[in-house]
Amino acid sequence: MPIQLLPDQLISQIAAGEVVERPASALKELMENSLDAQSTEVQVSLLQGGTKQLRVADNGKGIPKEELALALTRHATSKIATLADLESVASLGFRGEALASIASISRTTLMSKSADEAHAWQVASYGQDLSEITPAALSEGTVIEVNDLYFNTPARRKFLKQENTEYGHCEAAFQRIALSRPDVGFTLQHNGRAKAKWLAGSAEKRIQSVMGNDFAAESVFFDETAADLRFWGMAASPTFSRRTRDAQYTYVNGRFVRDKVLSHAIRQAYQDVMHHDRHPAYVLFLECDPTLVDVNVHPSKTEVRFRDSQAIHRFVFHSLHKSLAAPTGASSAVNVAQAEHNPFAAPAETASPVPKVQSEMPLRQTHFSPQSFSSSARPSGADDFYKKMYGDQQNAVSRVNESPARFDAVTTDQEASQTNPGLATESAEASSSAQEFPMGFALGQLHGVYILAQNQEGLVVVDMHAAHERIKYEQLKQALDQQTVAMQPLLLPVSLQADTLEVATVQTLLDEGSDVLQQLGFDFAVLSPNTLAVRGIPTLLQGADVEALARAVLKDIADYGATRVLTEQRNEMLGTMACHAAVRANRLLTLPEMNALLRDMEATERSGQCNHGRPTWFQVSMLDLDKMFMRGQ
Ligand code: ADP
Ligand code: MG
Repeated sequence: MPIQLLPDQLISQIAAGEVVERPASALKELMENSLDAQSTEVQVSLLQGGTKQLRVADNGKGIPKEELALALTRHATSKIATLADLESVASLGFRGEALASIASISRTTLMSKSADEAHAWQVASYGQDLSEITPAALSEGTVIEVNDLYFNTPARRKFLKQENTEYGHCEAAFQRIALSRPDVGFTLQHNGRAKAKWLAGSAEKRIQSVMGNDFAAESVFFDETAADLRFWGMAASPTFSRRTRDAQYTYVNGRFVRDKVLSHAIRQAYQDVMHHDRHPAYVLFLECDPTLVDVNVHPSKTEVRFRDSQAIHRFVFHSLHKSLAAPTGASSAVNVAQAEHNPFAAPAETASPVPKVQSEMPLRQTHFSPQSFSSSARPSGADDFYKKMYGDQQNAVSRVNESPARFDAVTTDQEASQTNPGLATESAEASSSAQEFPMGFALGQLHGVYILAQNQEGLVVVDMHAAHERIKYEQLKQALDQQTVAMQPLLLPVSLQADTLEVATVQTLLDEGSDVLQQLGFDFAVLSPNTLAVRGIPTLLQGADVEALARAVLKDIADYGATRVLTEQRNEMLGTMACHAAVRANRLLTLPEMNALLRDMEATERSGQCNHGRPTWFQVSMLDLDKMFMRGQ
């Protein structure tokens, strides 16, 4: 192919990849245009998470008829004309590519009335083509309607998530912009339902509306200036900290940005008053001379570069640090559930709350699928049964273990089966026990890792640790589901040398009155700044290495937060606990212990795979063995 210039349409579609990553990014651009046009009212309505339609109506200065088509054309902007303009840009837009990009991948209608004109005009674009400009009915401002985003770029359309997810992103974009302009009124509708209506008012009022009353009650409002810098906003007290970063808003000259310099300075200001795992909540605005900051870093314009980032860092840190040190009068006991609430659910002026979706993590799948068990409940009297069957057969086991290097397990197997006529023969008892006990009965332990058992079909090989882990895991899951993870107080509490983070994790939970440890069946106490005591562990995990178990649990809580270890991270948490409680390799088990494990496996759902997706056992049938030995061929 010879070198050729790309068609404009294609250039716009390529640009759209960066600017219009998803409906929410288009919404952001449209709302920014409304603000750049000096609107005081911006109404947003969405259909199907913005994928079906994004509609933004404003009462701004409008677009004159002869510029309507240009507005949809690439690199057409009314906001800058020279490099000097770019370097001191104060408007949100300046690249002149958002509308063209959006129009190139949707069916867009742009309707506008500028003050100088008698009536409104409209133009429509369908991917490539622009319609004629025709008169329209609109008394003021601009209405832009973006339909069927990505209709002509199927590859991109495939990346769209579910309606709820896309709506969530749109809502977040809407909130970010609404926070930045309290002097403008905003409304949001989704699928015809009112989601938010925020009247123009003070910054404090707007922040409260968007972030919720709880946030406002726990926050300080501050406003600091130094030379030509101003840093102001609302910062929640450390007690209102959260498990995630989702309540953190920073703005530079009115533009929402994610910036490392700012977030680092803020983080530091909170540092000595907050546990490292918690995230502060804030809405903060930095204002400076536009020439001191470069906003043209990325097409989405959410990154900035400061000319003197050290000065900015110092100023931000000191302003916030000072403000946080001032007493707020807010209570320090914060209910975790409250702190975790969705700020969008309860603002003063909003309509319907947004439900929080909690999904359970799917278990990791395995490709290995051992046959499933016929019986699912542990039969009563099983213990008696195998006691009777095996009596004191531990000698045979020991022999296997004592001579791991010698391949004499076969002899032992035979001995074992000879002493177990009930299993080795076709007696009635045997066939009924085969049904009752599909995992069969233990013959011995192999190299301290595998349990060998005999069932009706032949040989069963069990990965002892993996199976035990799985059983513990399922038992914990069931117990937690029923809110009954029983705690076993330790006769002698185990004290452990703990690092600062471990101690802080426990201390924070205790201070907050969190019952996560209790729910998981633990009882911890802080003995000194570097000693913890474990006073109780889950009854189900008796025999576990208490210290390792305790540390693993604290680490998960520190990493994910108390709420998440009981929700999204729950299965991981229980997996960690199970792993630390499961028998280690090289632990000698008695035959009754091995049989108890086999019975537990029969009774436990999904015991065919361990928590890491590996199989826990497999069957070698007599037929398989016969084949190996070429018997009957
Ligand atoms: P940019 O915002 O970077 O200039 P856009 O593609 O977003 O580029 O918009 C192109 C031009 O269309 C803007 O410069 C502006 O003149 C005009 N425009 C877009 N939306 C509006 C609006 N809601 N009200 C008035 N003018 C608008
Ligand atoms: Mg723009």
